[in-house]
Amino acid sequence: MEKMKMAKRFQGKVAIVTASTQGIGFGIAERLGLEGASVVVSSRKQKNVDEAVVKLKARGIEVIGVVCHVSNGQQRKNLINQTIEKFGKIDVVVSNAAANPSVDSILQTKESVLDKLWDINVKSSILLLQDAAPHLQKGSSVVLISSIAGYQPQSSMAMYGVTKTALLGLTKALAAEMAPDTRVNCVAPGFVPTHFAEYITSNDGVRQTIEQNTLLNRLGTTRDMAAAAAFLASDDASYITGETLVVAGGMPSRL
Ligand code: NAP
Repeated sequence: MEKMKMAKRFQGKVAIVTASTQGIGFGIAERLGLEGASVVVSSRKQKNVDEAVVKLKARGIEVIGVVCHVSNGQQRKNLINQTIEKFGKIDVVVSNAAANPSVDSILQTKESVLDKLWDINVKSSILLLQDAAPHLQKGSSVVLISSIAGYQPQSSMAMYGVTKTALLGLTKALAAEMAPDTRVNCVAPGFVPTHFAEYITSNDGVRQTIEQNTLLNRLGTTRDMAAAAAFLASDDASYITGETLVVAGGMPSRL
């Protein structure tokens, strides 16, 4: 991703990306930053936050890092407060954090795990947006990160998939609620070999099966996801709201 070739769709804009110290979230933060945004990165661990900030600064990006476990209310508020203190407004929020703590079937999933999935994958996005809403500018944009599993929850990640299905509805509902000043859209990634998906994509057999399930014969990259999120967050998508963009190499999703 060469800086010289980047459009500058986010010049003068302020973007918060949750769970953004590695993987897809980091890729999105980097892309928005290279396109001119002032970026706020965050995740649970200070060390990861510090390292991400160093990497992004090295690419010439204006960035601050804030520790924020998305299910911690105090840390969510602090994320918003630090953003406002430093940059004075919010133009883009990308809600990217998720957990997938269990491979159990839904009927075998413990209540504490159901709570955690709901809490991190769905509720924390809502609560973060409640805190962010008073600071969102006219023309601002929210991007939720769902999953191809939201369309067809597979057995090894069934309940996780259901929480990702919920984000498709949340996208529609929030788009109506936050219009016309703020657009709300969603990206549903296919499989991307990040730490999160390591238990799937690091197994050669499983990896090949997934690749064969795509039309493009490959896994996705964090750059593929970042490009889609940046498009939806940008003014190029100024007439698009309430939509989910599947970025899964043609994997089956919907008509
Ligand atoms: P990843 O590479 O494992 O990165 C996870 C990031 O989230 C790290 O920066 C981690 O840093 C942070 N994090 C984890 N739990 C957090 C929490 N509770 N609060 C705040 N930050 C947290 O994951 P990824 O694959 O990029 O996944 C990102 C999103 O894409 C998720 O919503 C996932 O469901 C979705 N997705 C991924 C795939 C895939 O194949 N990879 C497919 C479909 C959808 P710390 O450890 O410092 O917190």
